[in-house]
Amino acid sequence: MRVAVVSLFPEMISGACGYGICGRALDAGLLELSTVNPREFAHDRHRTVDDRPYGGGPGMVMMVEPLRAAIGAARKAVGGTAKTVHMSPQGVPIDDAAVRRLAAEPALVLVCSRYEGVDERLIELEIDEELSLGDFVLSGGELPALALVDAMARQLPGALGHGESAQQDSFADGLLDWPHYTRPERVEGLEVPPVLLSGHHARIEKWRLHQALVRTAERRPDLLAERSLSEEEQAVLAAHRAGHAANEE
Ligand code: SAH
Repeated sequence: MRVAVVSLFPEMISGACGYGICGRALDAGLLELSTVNPREFAHDRHRTVDDRPYGGGPGMVMMVEPLRAAIGAARKAVGGTAKTVHMSPQGVPIDDAAVRRLAAEPALVLVCSRYEGVDERLIELEIDEELSLGDFVLSGGELPALALVDAMARQLPGALGHGESAQQDSFADGLLDWPHYTRPERVEGLEVPPVLLSGHHARIEKWRLHQALVRTAERRPDLLAERSLSEEEQAVLAAHRAGHAANEE
């Protein structure tokens, strides 16, 4: 997969991607990452990329032309045609489905803006979709773009090492992950749940499903509402709810 990131701070992108799974995907050639700085396409002495907003008010707005030229160069860098995404708090919040959908694209251009944002006409002319990291405002699109690149790297076939699986992560099957434990068996009086030491694979699997279901029901009921439940899963949840009711009596 080829990704080109348009950013006034390209070192933020290249500096943060060299580690862990993302770094491995780059080394293995599963992911190719390049950056384009709109400042390179500003032709005045000060390499200006922003200007004051029409209508007045505080802050600066990124101008169409340098950014547009940078997007053009970014598309060339990834092979010509690529879905072009603007990172924006006004975009659709990124979720697991969006990450998987975009990770299946052969090429992407991610546009990070700064200041008050970009001239609206740039969005009309060049942007295919807008994506948000969440309902809060950051000072630039670099961290959201990095979050997306990192999450997509996990989904690229071959990116996860032997024994790692994106299928077991939270959201993969519409549930949060189950709790994990490693050595030692006892920490400040807290024991590892005995079933995990039993070596009984079927019971361990059942315990994990139970934990994942109950966690999701308690922490993210919205996820369960969107997912259909098997008979076994319904029984697990019903038993859990009955147990709760009994405890409260
Ligand atoms: N005035 C804008 C915010 C500008 S923040 C508004 O209120 O909508 C500057 C830039 O940071 C944005 O243009 C965007 O590229 C990026 N950014 C800020 N918050 C973001 C978020 N939650 N998700 C994605 N990008 C974000």
